[in-house]
Amino acid sequence: MLPWMTYDGMYDAALNQPEQFWLEAAQRITWKQAPVAACQTRDDGWYDWFPDATLNTCYNAVDRHVEDGRGGQAALIWHSCATKEWQTVTYGDLRRRVAGFAGGLQALGVGKGDRVLIAMPTMVETAIAMLACARIGAVHVVVFAGYAGPELARRIDDVGPKVIIIASCSFQGQTAIPLLPALNEALAKAAHRPRACIIAQRDACPAALMPVRDYDFHVMEHAAPVEPVMLRSDDPLYILHTSGTTGNAKGIVRDNGGHAVALALSMELIYGCKPGDTFFTTSDLGWVVGHSYGVYAPLISGCTSVIVEGGASASAIRMLCHDHAVKCLFTTPTQMRLMRQESRHLSAAILPALARIFVAGEYADPTLLDWARAYFRKPVVNHWWQTETGWSITAHFFGLPECEPTSLMNDIGRPAPGFRPAIVSSHPDEPCGEIVLSLPLPPGCLAGVWKDRAIHAPTAYLDDTGKFYRTFDEGMIDATRAVHMLGRSDDVIKVAGRRISGVQIEKIIAAHPAVYACAVVAIPDALRGQRPVAYVVMNSDEDHKPSAEELIAGVNAVLGRWVGLKEVRFVRHLPITVSGKITRKRLLVS
Ligand code: AMP
Repeated sequence: MLPWMTYDGMYDAALNQPEQFWLEAAQRITWKQAPVAACQTRDDGWYDWFPDATLNTCYNAVDRHVEDGRGGQAALIWHSCATKEWQTVTYGDLRRRVAGFAGGLQALGVGKGDRVLIAMPTMVETAIAMLACARIGAVHVVVFAGYAGPELARRIDDVGPKVIIIASCSFQGQTAIPLLPALNEALAKAAHRPRACIIAQRDACPAALMPVRDYDFHVMEHAAPVEPVMLRSDDPLYILHTSGTTGNAKGIVRDNGGHAVALALSMELIYGCKPGDTFFTTSDLGWVVGHSYGVYAPLISGCTSVIVEGGASASAIRMLCHDHAVKCLFTTPTQMRLMRQESRHLSAAILPALARIFVAGEYADPTLLDWARAYFRKPVVNHWWQTETGWSITAHFFGLPECEPTSLMNDIGRPAPGFRPAIVSSHPDEPCGEIVLSLPLPPGCLAGVWKDRAIHAPTAYLDDTGKFYRTFDEGMIDATRAVHMLGRSDDVIKVAGRRISGVQIEKIIAAHPAVYACAVVAIPDALRGQRPVAYVVMNSDEDHKPSAEELIAGVNAVLGRWVGLKEVRFVRHLPITVSGKITRKRLLVS
């Protein structure tokens, strides 16, 4: 039971008495050596959370639940949308498999601080590999399973892994794609040589193992099990490369202690979950949401985590929610658009156990959220995230008794505890500008950036004063502390000196029932500096398809003609990143 009745009570407690707030939050974690201090400035100017404390994240995510009698409860429920396979792994099974695999890693010489690169789609084995690293203090680096050789080689040289763990194949739709050719190409290109490769064989496409170099994942699980190693709170748990939507891909380093505390608190405070509840994220485990809410947060909190391989259809999501009594569903706007498209042929969902749905990752237009509310008949809320922060910067707080103002539901919510946003605008009377966060950031956020084989203070994210973390997102903050998001700084369009966010225009166009998705970008304009161009994808089965003039008139009616939208380009698809986000920059070169 959380001690606060209202959002302001909770937020102000973290603001005014941060040491006390975070030391109390830390009681959700089983420590070997409990923390006596919350935050400490490091020699390099960045911050460590719970500096004197020791723990093991894997112990908190797995062993302690078995010791508490949850050994028979499902820890992971995995479904492959490609092969239609299922697997349920109880906490007891998970401990056995993780401890065995960790023993196998140790036998290969992997120890504390060694990096282990994991190139796997969302599989039970991916989670086992991550947790096994955490168990022995190795630092996991999960990369997208679909990277081609050169991209994989770059990651290998960046982190210098002692061991690489890879699946024999991943899937594109129903088609199996062997992964070893990319691995072989990457190893031929990379300067770094790993000591061994571990292959998780899949029935659809087993790989021929290379003698001496390769080991079988499922054989290694039977190695002599090892106990969790005690680590300092500030020892690194993992490195995760940013998607590149926030500049060049950077290796974000996450610690053990701050991460565990922030995630455990968020499960109660934001998602309203308690041990035994079922949490379902549609995110690939290779992205930050998959790390945080596919693996660590639900497991640290003793929940059951539902994970899926491949793009789940609306009917698959419904079935999974229904069959596993999912309480919270966490998905993306892109996934939701796909569900909306497919749901035209389905009746409204009846899912009694489902309490609420969360979206994050990119702009979600209100029309889409309204559709989801009508379809699922549940609260649907948006919250704001970055790979760097590891959990949501702003959110809605379902663990608090205070009822959320409905006016906020379409927005990204109010700051989570410890996040202190401010706006940096070019004119003092301008309410919009770049959103920056006062330092220190709360626990769970980046502990540094990985570069040249070491952890560095993330100076590239600091403003000129060195006191603020730059999010590179634009927005405004209102009197209720709610943050309103306008998009990435480089997506803001300046028309004759006035700022308009592409998102504001997209919101209006997306409200047309025939529009499936749209993206607005700026192009140079000789007279006004910049002007917007809209790229629009139509629903395939809609009768009334609007003309460009009709969509432009809709925008002018709401925002005014000054916006200068003159061009609508109808396209069949929008370019998206491998994590499913629209890449507006690529539209500019197309
Ligand atoms: P990534 O680190 O790749 O997950 O990207 C983080 C970026 O995604 C943020 O800086 C935002 O630009 C965007 N983003 C995340 N969540 C939201 C949201 N709820 N609404 C709008 N944009 C979002």
